[in-house]
Amino acid sequence: MNSDLVLVLDAAAFAADKHRRQRRKDAEATPYINHPLSLATILAREGGVDDARVIAAALLHDTVEDTETTPDELEARFGAEVAGIVAEVTDDKSLSKAERKQLQVARAAHKSTGAKLVKLADKIANLRDIAASPPADWDQARKAEYVHWADKVVAGLRGANPALEAAFDAAAAAIV
Ligand code: NDP
Ligand code: ZN
Repeated sequence: MNSDLVLVLDAAAFAADKHRRQRRKDAEATPYINHPLSLATILAREGGVDDARVIAAALLHDTVEDTETTPDELEARFGAEVAGIVAEVTDDKSLSKAERKQLQVARAAHKSTGAKLVKLADKIANLRDIAASPPADWDQARKAEYVHWADKVVAGLRGANPALEAAFDAAAAAIV
């Protein structure tokens, strides 16, 4: 049995189940699971990341923030390291949107390497979605505002993975 493969497949199946009723914000309302799968693919293919715990955390990265999943549930099933990375990339939903966005900028540089990699992949995936299949009601100014905020978050992540940082820059340049 390849335990890395089992971890990654179990995380994909768990995330697919937790997000099963959710859709992305694009006009086609793409199934939500496509987004965590994009992060995992970006990390493995473009970032050369081969740590299964980071790939599993990428697959699970929005489960606590956007579904009923608890941190304890993740720790029991996937271990403390995967659960810890997910916790690091989970916004505190008791705060306002503006506070959450500001905290992402302020805290980016202080995160673990695993969390930085997942955050980089998240921002790359979202910028590519904004270019190819944006939220239905976003005009160019709203897209540009998102890119400028994402760029401030990524400033704190730089040094973690140059290939992913270059992919982020290319995705940003395609929008603004
Ligand atoms: P967000 O900026 O939070 O929406 C972007 C998020 O939606 C992404 O980070 C991503 O998060 C998720 N998402 C889902 N589908 C897509 C997709 N197809 N493409 C890209 N991202 C997608 O928007 P909110 O509406 O929640 O508003 C938050 C902030 O935006 C407010 O604080 C306000 O400051 C600002 N705002 C600006 C406006 C303007 O016109 N300039 C108008 C309204 C709000 P994930 O990866 O976590 O799923
Ligand atoms: Zn995400």
